[in-house]
Amino acid sequence: MEKKIYTETIYNEEIIRPTRVEVDLQKIKQNYYEIKKYIGNTKIMPILKANAYGHGLIRIAKLMEELNADYIGVAVLEEGILLRQNGIQLPILVLGGIWGNQIPLFLKYDLTITASSIIKLKQIDEVASNLKTKAKVHLKIDTGMERIGVHYYNSETFFQESLKCKNIIVEGVYSHFANSESVDLTFPKLQLERFNESILFYEKHSIEIPIRHISNSGAILQLPEANFDLVRPGLLLYGVYPSDEINKNIKVEPALSWKSLVVYFKVIKKESTVGYGMKWKAEKNIRAVTIPVGYGDGYFRSMSHKAEVIINKKRYPVIGTISMDQIVVNIENDSAYNGDEVILIGKDGEASLTVENLAEWAGTIPYEILTNINTRVPRVYV
Ligand SMILES: *Cc1c(COP(=O)(O)O)cnc(C)c1O
Repeated sequence: MEKKIYTETIYNEEIIRPTRVEVDLQKIKQNYYEIKKYIGNTKIMPILKANAYGHGLIRIAKLMEELNADYIGVAVLEEGILLRQNGIQLPILVLGGIWGNQIPLFLKYDLTITASSIIKLKQIDEVASNLKTKAKVHLKIDTGMERIGVHYYNSETFFQESLKCKNIIVEGVYSHFANSESVDLTFPKLQLERFNESILFYEKHSIEIPIRHISNSGAILQLPEANFDLVRPGLLLYGVYPSDEINKNIKVEPALSWKSLVVYFKVIKKESTVGYGMKWKAEKNIRAVTIPVGYGDGYFRSMSHKAEVIINKKRYPVIGTISMDQIVVNIENDSAYNGDEVILIGKDGEASLTVENLAEWAGTIPYEILTNINTRVPRVYV
C-alpha cells in the first residue's frame, strides 16, 4: 500500500476561508512568454519549489505542461513525487540532491537526480544497476555558492568518474549563482568563467556536451551570455523582480493577490490597548475592524506596527501586535462592513500593496514573503 507522503490544504469549495490567495494564471502565462521572448531559443525550466513560490505546486505545474515548458525544477524529492502522483509528465529535476536511501524513489517516479559528489554518483550508479535501469542525472558544479556540488577546480575528476558509470545518463551539467540580483556583476562573471572552464572538459575530450545551465531570475535579466542551453526562472515567472536595483528589461507582473474579508467591526475607546503585549494604545476613540489572518498563515509578526492593508481602495494601518490568526485594522472615522474585501497583497484602484512592501516591513526578501504564505490559506485560480 502506498503511504500518503505530502499533504496540501484542507480545501472545501463550499466553505472556503475568507482569507485566500488568488492566483491569476493569465499573468503567469504572460510572464512565461515574456521570459521566452527574451531568451530566444534557450530552453526553460520553470522552478516550482516551495509550493511554486506559494502559488500552488500542482496547478502551476499543470499550467507549465499546457505551455509546453521543457523541464520543471523542484527542490526536494517529495515535491517531485507529488507532481508525478498528480499526473505531471514533464521531465522533473530535483535541485536539492539526494539523501539516505532516496535513490530508488527517484527511479520509481522518473525524477532526474542532481549528483553533487563522486560518492553520490557511485551510489546512484549502483542502485540503478541493482534495479536494472538507468538513472537520469545532472552533475552539479560549485562555482562559488558553496552549498552543494563539486568545486569547479575538481570538476575534471568528477566528469571522468561520471563517464565510468554505466547505469547513469548524464543529461545535464549545472551550477548556481550566488548574487546575480546585484548590479555589481563581478562575482557572477567570475562564476560564469569558472563554469565555462569546467565544461570545456567535454569539448577537450570530444564528448557530446550535456544540457548546460546556470541562470536563475537575476542572471536571466542581467547576464544573457550565461543562458547556455537552458535557464531556470523562479521568482521572475511569478512576476516579482529579485531585487529593486536590478535591470528590469523583461516586463513581468505579479500573479498573486492575498485577500481576506472584514469579519468584525467595533469602536475602540480612547486609552484601550489592542492585542498581545498591549503595545498599541488608542489616543482617541477610533473605528476598527478585525481580519482573520495572522502569522499562522505567514503574515509575519515582525510586520507589527508597520503593515497596512487596503479596504475599499484605501490603505489603513494594522494596529497592535499581529496575532497567530487575526489582525486589527484602524479605519479611523471611515466605514467598513462585515464582508468587505481586505487586500493584504494586491491592488484596488490606485491603492496597491506589493510583495516588496511586505518584505520591507518584515525585514526580509520577496522570496520569503511568498513561500511563507502557508497551506492553511486556500489558493483560488482566476
Ligand atoms: C531557487 C533556484 C532557482 C530559481 O531562482 P530564482 O532567483 O527564483 O529565479 C534556480 N536554480 C536553483 C538551483 C535554485 O535553487
